[in-house]
Amino acid sequence: MLAAVLLLLSACADMSSQAPAGLNRRRMPKPYLRDDDDAVVKTDRNGNGPPPLSFNSDGTFQISIFEDLHFGENAWDQWGPQQDINSVKVINAVLDHETPDLVVLNGDLITGENTFLENSTSYIDQIAAPLAARGLTWASTYGNHDHNFNISGAGILARETTQWPANSRTRSMVAGRDAGVSNYYLPVYAAHCRGRRNCTPELVLWFFDSRGGFYAGERREDGKQVGQPDWVDGSVVDWFLTTSSEMRREHGKTVPSLAFVHIPTNASLALQTERGRHSVDEHGQPGIDDDFPLAQQAQGWCADGSNGRECAYGGQDVPFMQAIADTPGLIGLFSGHDHGNTWCYRWDRLVPGMTVAGHGVNLCFGQHSGYGGYGNWIRGARQVRVSVDSLRSHVPEAETWIRTEAGSVVGAVSLNATYGADYYPSTPNDKTYCPTCNYTAAASVSRRR
Ligand SMILES: [Zn+2]
Repeated sequence: MLAAVLLLLSACADMSSQAPAGLNRRRMPKPYLRDDDDAVVKTDRNGNGPPPLSFNSDGTFQISIFEDLHFGENAWDQWGPQQDINSVKVINAVLDHETPDLVVLNGDLITGENTFLENSTSYIDQIAAPLAARGLTWASTYGNHDHNFNISGAGILARETTQWPANSRTRSMVAGRDAGVSNYYLPVYAAHCRGRRNCTPELVLWFFDSRGGFYAGERREDGKQVGQPDWVDGSVVDWFLTTSSEMRREHGKTVPSLAFVHIPTNASLALQTERGRHSVDEHGQPGIDDDFPLAQQAQGWCADGSNGRECAYGGQDVPFMQAIADTPGLIGLFSGHDHGNTWCYRWDRLVPGMTVAGHGVNLCFGQHSGYGGYGNWIRGARQVRVSVDSLRSHVPEAETWIRTEAGSVVGAVSLNATYGADYYPSTPNDKTYCPTCNYTAAASVSRRR
C-alpha cells in the first residue's frame, strides 16, 4: 500500500514535468460565501444560476452520479483525447436510459497532472455539453486529480460558473486555504414549493472536498510540488455541524440528507477488511470489490500532518467520520476514488480497530464513469432515487442502482433499515475495453486513483 502511494506521488510528479512552462501562479477567484439566508434561495451573489431543486410532481427525485471521469489524460498524444471521446459516450449512454433531476460529478473530473496550464479547466466544457444539451444541471465535488500544479478546484469552479451559469450548481461555502473548494449544500424542495423562501426542504444534499493532489502553482525550495492533505478539513466539519444544527433549529425537524465526497473515509476500509478478503458480501452488499484494500482519506499522511514516506494513514478523517456517523437523517455518503469498488455498506456499529461507531449511514461507491483513470471495469453511473414518502418513513430510505454504459442495470438495492441483511443478486464483474485504445499507454498510468 505504502509503495503504491509513493508510486502514485512520483507518477504525478513525473506526469507534471511533461507539461510546458508558463507556470505562473494564477489569480484564484474568490469563493462564493454564504453570508446570509438568501444563499439558500439565490445561487450566488449575483442571483445567477439555475432555480432551486425540487421534487417531481409524483414525489420523486433522482440523482445520476458520474465519478472519476478523468478528462484530459495524456493531453500531448492521441490516446488521451480518445478517452475523452469515449467518456462523453458513457455520459450519453447512461442518460439515454435515465432521466435524473440532478447530476453529481463526484470528483476527478479532470486528470490535472496531465493537462496544460493554458487550458486545464476547459475540459469541463466536454463534460458540461452533453448535460446542458439535455437541460440537466449538475453539482460537483473535486477530487485529488482536480487539485494539481496546473489546475485548481477554484479554477474549475470558475470555469463551471462562468461558462455554464445556468447549469452548474457547484459552490464554495467555506473559505480558507485548508478548506478546499467544493464544500456546500443544496436544498431540495417539494414540488409545490419551488424554492419559496418559507418552504422547508424535503431533502438536503451535502458536498465535501476531500482535497489531495497538489497545491496549484506551488513548489517547495527543493523544486518539488507541494502536496495537499487528502481529507475533509476540520474547518469544513465545523461548518457542516453548525449549518446542519442551524437548519434543524430553523425548521424544527431533521431534514433527511445525502452526502457526496470524492475520497471515502477510513470507515469504508474498516468495513471492507473487517473479516478478511470477503467482508463485503456479494449478496449482502452487491458490487465490485477489486480495490482491496481500498484507498481512504488521510492515506499517505502522518498523524502530525506531514506526508512522509513512513505513514500509511494518519487518522485525520476521524472528525469528519464522527460528524457523518452522528448526523441524524443522513441516508448515505457517496464516494468515488477507488475505481474498482462499487458497493454500498450500511455502517451500523463500532468496527474493531475504529474509534467511531456508525449508526446506520450507508457508505457507497459509485461506478468508474470515465475512460481515463486506471481500470477497465465496465463504465457507468450510480443512480439514487428518493421519494417524499420514502424520506418520511421512520428510517429515511433511498433506492439505488448502477446503470452501465451497455444499458444494463446492476446492483439495484434499497438503502433501508434492513439493508445488509437482505439478499440481492451479485453484480457481474464486467470489463469494457476500447478497441481503438493503446493499452500500453493505459498500463503506464494504471493504479492512479
Ligand atoms: Zn480517479
